[in-house]
Amino acid sequence: MSSSAKMDNNCAFCDRTKFEERIIAENKAWYLIATLGQIRGGYVLIVPKRHVPCIGAMKEQEIVDIDSAFHAANNAINIEYGIKPIIFEHGIVCQTVQHAHLHLLPAKIRMCGKIYHDFPQRVNLLSGFAQNT
Ligand SMILES: [Zn+2]
Ligand SMILES: [Zn+2]
Repeated sequence: MSSSAKMDNNCAFCDRTKFEERIIAENKAWYLIATLGQIRGGYVLIVPKRHVPCIGAMKEQEIVDIDSAFHAANNAINIEYGIKPIIFEHGIVCQTVQHAHLHLLPAKIRMCGKIYHDFPQRVNLLSGFAQNT
């Protein structure tokens, strides 16, 4: 299969002219892009070049490619800011941009209190998780 991306003309991440000035790095499979309206320096997005709705819908090789982008960005942020970034994906629910992307936010946030508050019925399931965070 060709590595060329299938474009969605209404998609903000399929048209590189919409974010070209914010591209930090790229290869054949992905972009590393500075976020719009940086709430913190070093806040970046990893965006696959192929239009795919979420990370879970990516092909195995695309996951391998995005993992290499993740490690490169994670290391660079750690060196520059002395902190490992929080990584999250909104996923497909309530997304205005239906194109997979990972957020890497260099910040220390403790999520357990919020999770316990919002999902009290899940506290027992999360007890092991909490010990590791
Ligand atoms: Zn797209
Ligand atoms: Zn997002």
